[in-house]
Amino acid sequence: MVPRRPIVVAGAGVGGLTTALALARHGLPVEVYERRTADEIRNAPGSGLTLWSNASTPLGWLGLGDRLLAASDRVVAIHNFDSRGRLRFKMSSHPHLWPGALPSLSIGRMDLAEILMEAVRQRDVQVHYGRPVSDHEITGDGVRVRLVDGDTVLGAALVGADGVRSTVLRELRGEVPGVYLGRTTYRGVVPGTAGLVPEIPQLFHDDETRIGGGVYRIGGDRSAWTLSWKAPAGEREEPGTEHAHAVRLARPLPALLRDRVAATPAEAVIRTDIWYHEWHEQWGEGPVTLVGDAAHAMPNDLGQGACQAVEDAVVLADALAAGDLSSQAGVAAALRVYEGRRYERVKWVRQQSVQVATAAEPRSAAARWVMGHLTRVYLAMAEKKMWQEMQRLPELTVHPDEVVGSR
Ligand SMILES: Cc1cc2nc3c(=O)[nH]c(=O)nc-3n(C[C@H](O)[C@H](O)[C@H](O)COP(=O)(O)OP(=O)(O)OC[C@H]3O[C@@H](n4cnc5c(N)ncnc54)[C@H](O)[C@@H]3O)c2cc1C
Repeated sequence: MVPRRPIVVAGAGVGGLTTALALARHGLPVEVYERRTADEIRNAPGSGLTLWSNASTPLGWLGLGDRLLAASDRVVAIHNFDSRGRLRFKMSSHPHLWPGALPSLSIGRMDLAEILMEAVRQRDVQVHYGRPVSDHEITGDGVRVRLVDGDTVLGAALVGADGVRSTVLRELRGEVPGVYLGRTTYRGVVPGTAGLVPEIPQLFHDDETRIGGGVYRIGGDRSAWTLSWKAPAGEREEPGTEHAHAVRLARPLPALLRDRVAATPAEAVIRTDIWYHEWHEQWGEGPVTLVGDAAHAMPNDLGQGACQAVEDAVVLADALAAGDLSSQAGVAAALRVYEGRRYERVKWVRQQSVQVATAAEPRSAAARWVMGHLTRVYLAMAEKKMWQEMQRLPELTVHPDEVVGSR
């Protein structure tokens, strides 16, 4: 049963827009309120993102498969090198896809945002850009959402998709202190793919300086790069010196990465500190719930944060579509079903990400050699199971092809 009032989504990132699209495909009324303006989103400096098959496939179920494939590069494996370009280990993800799955993809964040924005527009979903959510109040028959501009919106439910510093999360559980990973990143996108192996992101690590980085194709004639290093939270360079800093940091790493950092226009280099959340199993209350980073921000090491937001979105829509939404109790019950269906999966993925992100980095060359050897042995034994689990597809009660409005 369709609720009288819209489901209000706070945030138009990957999680919010995918939620809106999935709900709209089920014929459920939905409205999105986003802090940034549409131009701010479109003109944000570029960076890349990996959509592993567990996210590309559900986005395909939402009708975006062809557009995603056209705008991205496939990812079939990852190669990991030391700073002199000597191969440390390889991992193949592609042989471990589930039947019927789309391949894993690397894509520009701006391209993914554009595809999602266009898809919700085609479904006539109203996205109110430049209108941040301030707070909410659960009423007898839904939720009253207040916006920073003073307006009030009445919804059947509120979905907080407003990222790691979520306002909706704060309202639910009070101030939730983030965990700083101790690491920060620079990212950028440059034209050209010279020297890059198609479909295989290349990662590098300099054991002396402990600076890591990666470079990969993102569709079209472009590549994305990252650099990461240990730094205190909030530390920033003098304005205008970021690019020179990134170039300096990249010095120990191979030219494939170094040259791309140098070629990126200064204004297109983004710095992001890596914050995540302690695990917590209260994502909601009554007609309110969370998706994506708002619910479970995790370290970026496995590239699964946005992927888990996509999984949340399709499972949430599936749970609501199967629920009785004629009463507030019915809406709340469907949201608890969604949360219950997600906890175990997200907890596992988050745990793997935290383990990789916080693994000790041995100082001595001998200890590093032993660690490298153990990693290769572990991968030889566990690669198949690890990739199958990581790329596992969400299970839905209504098959995607049977969703009303799927065509
Ligand atoms: C360096 C780095 C690399 C990464 N690489 C990958 C990768 O390869 N693959 C992957 O899957 N993940 C990756 N991630 C993680 C991924 O970026 C996040 O997990 C993902 O963006 C979370 O999506 P989201 O929609 O939950 O939140 P966000 O993307 O943060 O979107 C939240 C939205 O809410 C809006 N908002 C905030 N407050 C309000 C408010 N009060 N009212 C209304 N709107 C509001 C924001 O403006 C934003 O648009 C990476 C992260 C980092 C830092």
